[in-house]
Parts: sequence; structure tokens; C-alpha cells
Amino acid sequence: MTVRLWVYGPLVACAWWLSVRSGAVGASSAAAYFAAGVALWTALEYLMHRYAFHGFAPHYEHHRDPADRRHILAPLWLSLSGAGALWLLLWPATGSAARAALIATGVIAGYLGYELIHLRLHSGRRGGRILRALRKRHFHHHFADERVCYGVTSPLWDVVFGTLPAEPRRLGGARDASSEA
Ligand SMILES: [Zn+2]
Ligand SMILES: [Zn+2]
Repeated sequence: MTVRLWVYGPLVACAWWLSVRSGAVGASSAAAYFAAGVALWTALEYLMHRYAFHGFAPHYEHHRDPADRRHILAPLWLSLSGAGALWLLLWPATGSAARAALIATGVIAGYLGYELIHLRLHSGRRGGRILRALRKRHFHHHFADERVCYGVTSPLWDVVFGTLPAEPRRLGGARDASSEA
């Protein structure tokens, strides 16, 4: 995770500096594009987990061995090329390289938050009320029903798409079920 922060931290800072310096975007609208990127990430997180990880690119390893960090973090080359591809898609969509870059930095921030939270959920350190609620839903996805609770950092898109169970069950113990396997 440290490597990711060292790679993406300067990248995001650089993208901000270049975008704002280009004069194409003011500071306050830059913040709005960034926020839009974070919101876009929450949707991407849901859609990727539901349709890629439980579709054409399954993440069986993570379900079989939830605490193994190698199966939690996405490979750096994959997330970097994903971020690059997203920027290239957003460029024509927003009509500006700077706007596209700022949205992409929001997506990257959301992505890093997701990796940190996902690691923490499987770490065995309980955390506060919000973390415990997120863990309860995520462990429901792991140990009770893989067809619900696809959102990791928020239940928002599970509510939107109707994949939030009425009563998530906390299964698998405080850490995870891998030690029993
Ligand atoms: Zn899953
Ligand atoms: Zn997990």
C-alpha cells in the first residue's frame, strides 16, 4: 500500500498543479471536478466488483483467503493503466485534458481510500462505528451471500441497485474465515 501512496501521491499533486496552472480550470471548479471523481469511483467500485470480480474476472482468491493482502490490493500496473485509460476516456467526454485529469485524481483518491478501507476491514482491528458497519456488510458478502453488498466503502450503490440485504449478518468471526480453512 505504501508503494501505491508514493506513486499516486506525486501523480495526483502533479496533475493538480498542471491542470490549475494551465488556466483551464479555476481552483473551486477544480475541487468540484475532484469531488465528481470521488463519486464516480464509488460507482466504479460497485460495478467492477459486481460485474468484473463476480463476472468475467472473478476474485475467487480473495473470497477463499480474505486476509491475504496479495489478493486484496490490485496490481499497481493494472490500477495505473486503468487510471490512464480513464483519463483518455474523460478527455473527449469533458472536452479538456485538465478537467479529465482532475476528475481522474478524484477517482484515484476514491480508489486509494477503497484499498485502505478494504485492507482495514480484513485486518482484525475493529475500528469505530462506521468501520464496523462497513465490515458487517462486507463480511456478509464474503461469508453469507456473494450476490449482495458489492459496495465496500459505502452501501450507496447497493441501495440504488437493490443488492442491500435487509439484515446483514456478521459471519466469519472478528478477523475472517481463512484461519479455519
Ligand atoms: Zn466479492
Ligand atoms: Zn474483502
